[in-house]
Amino acid sequence: MTQNPDMAKYIFVTGGVVSALGKGIAAASLGSVLEARGLQVTLIKLDPYINIDSGTMSPLQHGEVFVTEDGAETDLDLGHYERYVSTPMRRQNSITTGQIYQRVLQKERRGDYLGNTVQVIPHVTDEIKASIESAAKGAEIALVEIGGTVGDIESLPFLEAIRQMRMDLGYRQTLFLHLTLVPEVSGELKTKPTQHSVKELRTIGIQPDILLCRTAAPLPETARRKIALFTNVNEKAVITGRDVDTIYSLPEQYVAQGTDQLVAEQLELPPEHPKMQVWEQVTEAWRAPEGEVRVALVGKYANMNESYKSLVEAMIHAGIHNRCRVQLEYVDAVSLETGGAAALETADAILVPGGFDARGVEGMLIAARFARETGRPYLGICLGMQVAVIEYARHVAGLHNANSSEFDAGTQHPVVALVTEWRETDGRTEQRDAASDLGGTMRLGAQEIELKPGSRSHALYAERMSGTSKTSGWGLIHERHRHRYEVNNHYRERLEAKGLAVTGRSPDDLVEVIELPDHRWFVACQFHPEFTSNPRVGHCLFNDYVRAALDYHQHLDINHAAA
Ligand code: GLN
Repeated sequence: MTQNPDMAKYIFVTGGVVSALGKGIAAASLGSVLEARGLQVTLIKLDPYINIDSGTMSPLQHGEVFVTEDGAETDLDLGHYERYVSTPMRRQNSITTGQIYQRVLQKERRGDYLGNTVQVIPHVTDEIKASIESAAKGAEIALVEIGGTVGDIESLPFLEAIRQMRMDLGYRQTLFLHLTLVPEVSGELKTKPTQHSVKELRTIGIQPDILLCRTAAPLPETARRKIALFTNVNEKAVITGRDVDTIYSLPEQYVAQGTDQLVAEQLELPPEHPKMQVWEQVTEAWRAPEGEVRVALVGKYANMNESYKSLVEAMIHAGIHNRCRVQLEYVDAVSLETGGAAALETADAILVPGGFDARGVEGMLIAARFARETGRPYLGICLGMQVAVIEYARHVAGLHNANSSEFDAGTQHPVVALVTEWRETDGRTEQRDAASDLGGTMRLGAQEIELKPGSRSHALYAERMSGTSKTSGWGLIHERHRHRYEVNNHYRERLEAKGLAVTGRSPDDLVEVIELPDHRWFVACQFHPEFTSNPRVGHCLFNDYVRAALDYHQHLDINHAAA
């Protein structure tokens, strides 16, 4: 077995016993520690479902659809990866069974298999291995997370592919890390499920090198010894994955148990100490908040923590950077439609996130109006910006029936509509097609945005600006998109005349950011800033939004004291 120094070393992360053990966060955390040792790290997700990508999957079933810089719609685990390591994720970092079969079938139709019978082994497994290797290019360490739980029929080809990779590359270039659960039953920690899960893995030819055991209580020496004995794993490689107060303390937890050291020994990595200061600062700030704000997230997907994952994390990051605890409270937009804005009274700030279709939109409009009229900071994201525009059109600009053509196809004032619906009239070249097929018709990924000098967003984005537009002098930034509908430029003048400022636009003059200059803090954007927030630096928009919420909170306190 010859090692190729230009090739990545692989850490394959599998999970057993139950789903939702946090494989993605565990892989990302270990990745961050290896990055802190000075290594170039990437992460790859293998998802066993047949969908080509997550783009058509409901956030209610599968959680948030994460969007990469290059416009791939992926599993939310890629969001975890980017929050922990600095390598940007790309389309190739998210591999699904659907993609693999699509490629194999294309090759089969082209005759690439030269008359051979096309089979799971070797054709599908070869395609999986090639996809992993191509995604790992340029990295020193690639952590490869296999979705699902060991024992699932669906993930078998992926497990077979990584088993082969060990044979191809050897012990010094591949490491198997298996995540299991050690539950407590009647006050006792039970190791049997872990034993069975490893047995399952070994049946298919994979012997884990490291076991990461999720537990509520610390794993006693006896339990570790027993697990090691029954699973054939070195005792010091049985790591305790204790429940933590913040997921951002996991990198430190792994370092404390020498997990990176185990990896370094097996994969023969340079003997570095991980530089953990940034992570220590993050957890320290999280643990010692000096204030608190309540932010109402007015959404339509009730499983907030999954459906709005990146947003929830971005708000935590903003709390860390403002040294305060952000109490994010989910308010069901539909409930506002019957109950009115009363449910928002206790909130210091209003957040309206992205979403699709008409359900809940009228409730979001109530929330946007409430924020505008009461002076509470408002942050609108994607749908949240469209809602703010519709609200302004209806209640300030006198366009009473204003709507988006997404929610009312025959609306009298389509202030938001598909670009093909409103650009047709002025005869400009179309850049995007109307939505006909739901997969792959959206404006996706990082795109350039120009920000108006003198605006709040221009000031906030100062550090993230890549330059200045030579023609307009506006500041240039990049943010990620995932939407189909646009503010209708035919209404722009009328809205601006009434005080709504368009402070961000695309190079082809689509509305990207709006602000209400007369309001304490009212900013809404067509893009998704939450995808580029991480705990180490936060994100300028969220950081300042939470700062404004703190201000508002204090202003409320002062008013109460005076009353
Ligand atoms: N439904 C809206 C659109 O397609 C907003 C999308 C979103 O919020 N991500 O434009």
